[in-house]
Amino acid sequence: MTGAAVIETVLGLKRRARRMARALATIHPDAHCELNHGTALELAVATILSAQCTDQRVNEITPKLFLRYPTAADYASADRAELEELIRPTGFFRNKADALIRLGDTLVRRYGAEVPGRLEDLVSLPGVGRKTANVILGNAFGVPGITVDTHFSRLVQRWRWSTETDPVKIEHAVGALIERPEWTMLSHRVIFHGRRVCHARTPACGACTLATDCPSYGLGPTEFEAAVKLLKGPRAEELAQLARPAQPTRPARGAQPAQPARRARPVQPAQPSGQAPR
Ligand code: SF4
Repeated sequence: MTGAAVIETVLGLKRRARRMARALATIHPDAHCELNHGTALELAVATILSAQCTDQRVNEITPKLFLRYPTAADYASADRAELEELIRPTGFFRNKADALIRLGDTLVRRYGAEVPGRLEDLVSLPGVGRKTANVILGNAFGVPGITVDTHFSRLVQRWRWSTETDPVKIEHAVGALIERPEWTMLSHRVIFHGRRVCHARTPACGACTLATDCPSYGLGPTEFEAAVKLLKGPRAEELAQLARPAQPTRPARGAQPAQPARRARPVQPAQPSGQAPR
């Protein structure tokens, strides 16, 4: 990073955050919930199974699971041994089987065997925390929700959108910066960026389209050729093209040579107001 640190106002932070959110929409037009599901119940089940497990592994076992247990009542009356065997590849299968059986039972007893569409009801369900509830609200009910997982926490801290470490406080801080209708898609896009570009150990800074607005630019390699090798996912080549620095053109005789792209100066964040998302 170059230049002296500058104090960023709350308004400046909001503008920068929204600029980055718009850039994320361009960078990751394919962002979506990576847990395959058709109904709110399937999404709730898949999200419970995704704890300490990759979405890919969950997606491998859910087709058979959803066929065997299509309703909440099916989970409530499931044979524990059979259910455990089906979900074993996702790890912690005994705890997860217990959560699924209790989830089915609670839905049948308290919610007419349907997954409720309110945050306060969802978080009262076995195995459903605030993160899972926001995933369900945003993707099954169209209610805007911010999903704070490990990728989301890491990236918003790197971007200095928030200095909080508590997921609920992060959710509120980001909710105060970004327009409510954008919350669900923003969550997907930030998570996509965390999985494909801004990795936990070595982020691909030199091949990151957000570099000019990112105060943490330089955490990873800044040379394009080195950084591009760190990009992941099926659109790695497109991501590289989007971030490819403009090639200097040969200046006309007597003309001023092109200036290299300017990187953002590091910013000292101001604290956004802690307005609650809902
Ligand atoms: S510039 Fe580096 S730290 Fe910043 S978002 Fe991009 S990859 Fe992450």
